[in-house]
Amino acid sequence: MITKTDEEWKKILTPQQYEILRNKGTEPAFTGQFVDNHEQGVYECAACGEELFDSSTKFESGSGWPSFYDVATQGNVILKDDNAHGMRRTEVVCSKCGGHLGHVFEDGPKNKTGLRYCINSCALKFDNK
Ligand SMILES: [Zn+2]
Repeated sequence: MITKTDEEWKKILTPQQYEILRNKGTEPAFTGQFVDNHEQGVYECAACGEELFDSSTKFESGSGWPSFYDVATQGNVILKDDNAHGMRRTEVVCSKCGGHLGHVFEDGPKNKTGLRYCINSCALKFDNK
């Protein structure tokens, strides 16, 4: 588990990354760099490098955010109840640094897990290994 002060995070994250990862912000739909990324590889936490999602589980959700139907490694993401903004949602958090990644919804592909991990591009970095 990585713990840093807000000031330390501000030094290593861009302002937009900080807003999303540390302040639970959301990037505008269809603006993220990975929405239409179809390369094969691994998506890692932009803050700490933890492996989070694999390109093999990425699918076209039409939501405007990168969407995955499963995580790369169980335990690398934590799910938390999120009742902010008058909605009951499930927040997706990096287990290593506690960074906010996005939310998970139950309208994913029915022939897979049925889940849709809706993740901010800004919270990810891509490794096309
Ligand atoms: Zn992280």
